[in-house]
Amino acid sequence: MAKLIDGKVISTQIKDEVKAEVSKLADSGITVSLAVIQVGADPASSVYVRNKKKACEYCGIKSLSYELPESTTQDELLDLIRELNGRKDCNGILVQLPLPGHIDEEKILDEISPLKDVDGFHPMNVGALSIGKKGFVSCTPAGVIELIKRSGVEISGKECVVIGRSNIVGKPMAMLLLRENGTVTVTHSKTADLKAVTNRADILVVAIGKPKMIDASYVKDGATVIDVGIHRGEDGKLCGDVDFESVEPKAGAITPVPGGVGPMTIAMLMKNCVTSVDLQK
Ligand code: NAD
Repeated sequence: MAKLIDGKVISTQIKDEVKAEVSKLADSGITVSLAVIQVGADPASSVYVRNKKKACEYCGIKSLSYELPESTTQDELLDLIRELNGRKDCNGILVQLPLPGHIDEEKILDEISPLKDVDGFHPMNVGALSIGKKGFVSCTPAGVIELIKRSGVEISGKECVVIGRSNIVGKPMAMLLLRENGTVTVTHSKTADLKAVTNRADILVVAIGKPKMIDASYVKDGATVIDVGIHRGEDGKLCGDVDFESVEPKAGAITPVPGGVGPMTIAMLMKNCVTSVDLQK
C-alpha cells in the first residue's frame, strides 16, 4: 500500500509558517498585501477567488479586492494593473484566469510588474527560474516540490518524469526538479512510447488534463506519483489524471484528488506574497 501524501496537512503547515512570517513583518511595521482581480462572474473563478481571499485572511495578508464587470475593457484593466504596480501598499497582483474573450491574457500578464507577479507567469520570472536567479515560481509546481520534499522523498539523482509541458505546470515543474538535481524527462502528447518512459520514473508528476488516464501499467513499482489533474466527474466527485484505485497498490507514495496538489497551490501563493516583500526591498 502506498504512503498517502496529504496536501491538506502540508498546505496547512505552509500557511502556518507564512502566518508566522507575516506577523513578524507586522511587528516591524510591514503589512503584506495581495490585490486579487476578477473580471466577470464565472462561478468557478468566483470559488477560486473566494478561497484565495480566505487564505489571505488566515495568514494575516491584507487582500485588496477588485471585482470588475464582464464589460471591463482591456485598457481599463491595463490601467488598473499600472496603478497597482506603482502602489507601495500592494505587494502582489493576481489576475484570476480565464479572462473574458475580448481581453488578451498574455498582454495583461506581461503588464504585471515582475516584482509583484505572485503567480510566477511573467516571462522575467520564467527566465529567472530557468537560470537559477531569484524570482517568483508558478504556485502549482512549487507546491509539488514541497509535497515531495516534506514527505521525505529524495529528488537528487532520481529519475523524474513529468507528463505535460504546459507553461504553468509541466515546464516549470521540470525546471524545479532539475534544480533539485533530479534527472528529468518531459513527456507530452507527441511522446512516442509514453509507458516506456513513465516506467523508468522514481518520481512521476502527472499534469495532462485527462481524467484517470494513468493506470498502474504506466507506473514503476514503488514510484512516487503526484497527480496535478483535477476534474469533476458526472457523479459530481472530483478525480485526477491518475486512476488512484489502480495505481495506489503499486506506488510507494501517492497524492489523492482531492486533498493532494490542490490545496498546495493557494498555500504557495501565500508564500509568494511574503517573498514579494523580500524581492521589493
Ligand atoms: P494543459 O492542457 O495546458 O496541458 C496538458 C499537457 O498534457 C500538454 O502539454 C499535452 O502535451 C499533454 N498531454 C495531453 N494529452 C497527452 C497524452 N495523451 N499523453 C501525454 N501527454 C499528453 O493543462 P495544464 O494547465 O498543465 O493542467 C493539467 C491538469 O492539471 C489539468 O487537469 C488541470 O485542471 C490541472 N491543474 C491543477 C492545478 C491545481 O492547483 N491542482 C493547477 C493547474 C492545473
